Amino acid sequence: MLGVSDAMKWQVVSAPDEADVIVVNTCGFIGPAKEESIDTILEMGRYKEEGRCERLVVAGCLSQRYADAMSDEMPEVDHFLGSSDMLKLGRVLEGEAARMLVGNPADYVMAAADPRRLTQSSHRAFIKIAEGCNRTCSFCAIPGIRGKQRSRSVEDICLEVAKLSERGVVEFNLVSQDTIGYGRDLDGRPTLADLVGAVSQVEGARWIRLHYLYPESLTDPLISVIRDQPNVLPYIDLPLQHASDAMLRRMRRGHGGKRLYRVVERLREALPDMVFRTTFIVGHPGETEEDFEELMAFVKWAEFDHVGVFLYSHEEDTLSGEMEDLVPDEVARRRHRKLMSLQRPISRRKLRERIGEELEVLVDGVSDESDFLMEGRWWGQAPEVDGKVYLANGTAQAGEFRQSLVTAAADYDLVADLLTADGAHDSPPDGLRPPRRRVQLKTVP
Ligand code: SF4
Repeated sequence: MLGVSDAMKWQVVSAPDEADVIVVNTCGFIGPAKEESIDTILEMGRYKEEGRCERLVVAGCLSQRYADAMSDEMPEVDHFLGSSDMLKLGRVLEGEAARMLVGNPADYVMAAADPRRLTQSSHRAFIKIAEGCNRTCSFCAIPGIRGKQRSRSVEDICLEVAKLSERGVVEFNLVSQDTIGYGRDLDGRPTLADLVGAVSQVEGARWIRLHYLYPESLTDPLISVIRDQPNVLPYIDLPLQHASDAMLRRMRRGHGGKRLYRVVERLREALPDMVFRTTFIVGHPGETEEDFEELMAFVKWAEFDHVGVFLYSHEEDTLSGEMEDLVPDEVARRRHRKLMSLQRPISRRKLRERIGEELEVLVDGVSDESDFLMEGRWWGQAPEVDGKVYLANGTAQAGEFRQSLVTAAADYDLVADLLTADGAHDSPPDGLRPPRRRVQLKTVP
């Protein structure tokens, strides 16, 4: 939608009180996201009443899911777009659009020719390789919102990667709802391995990372392309959701807990240096203490590098949403805390083992923590979800790859000194040298 605005020569402003048109892009697949979206729409509605805003537009998954109810209850909204109607913002900006523009997600999948503006950073990008999902995980509302899987062609994805590479993007994070299922809906059935092999040949694609794999069909060709192509990172992002047989059955994941032990072992054998990210849901209906203890034992055994834990959200139009043996909220929260407390020292120990190591760090820019620090990530840290490397003692430009010596580690972040090309410690030009200071990294209590 930002790309559409740019293409139509609208200026994007950062403060809502400066905007003639406000677009709220919503999320609608779990309770807290829905609440946040609704609060934001109501808050933005006030700029229409009191400010210069002339039109309020609501887009995304919430309006896709609840189009009619929102239309009835939110008269202040001028236009509704769904989860796949981004290009229709053009009609809205032209001024001749209907109020209800929510379409069928099956009618659209993004293409390299669509206008695109990079947000946040000009050296990294997420590449949507497919839209929708054909699976039936019982807790998940996404297939109902996003529709069946529609994969983009290998050629179109490579074209987008090449275009972005020409604009200076060096890190490409391939995403979709079910990345391992890529290509099954296309003629000729190209596989994810075919796609990744092709993307790895695009000039300028220095880091390629795969997100949201499913613990099946991790084929030998896919593992080979990750192992053999130096620009395909051995970073495995595999949301496992749970580890107890009973819960995996209830969640309709299509496999049991033993499979997960085998998947981790197989990947560790094939990719000894891999960094493994996963996520779990606690508090799903029917989750007993025994189920939860099985999950704890699995996380303790696997020693993942990055773990995210989500509280179950009871959603209508899902199979789990009809289950009755709900886990009390305080029990789910306690399990959430317990699992995070188990993982924290694992993460800290793994990061401490890197002290003294030289890592290639992609510099993201000046740190949020201090203007005297830069921050970046080594390949084992994905943007937005994992920790960071805080870079001290030197100067660097956003988008640069820099050798750095790890000097300290916190629970989820590293601290490193920037090195010069000959391996010496970098030092900032005279006059720019910041006072030497101790950096206190935030740790989650
Ligand atoms: S694979 Fe992911 S998006 Fe698809 S149904 Fe399962 S949890 Fe939802």
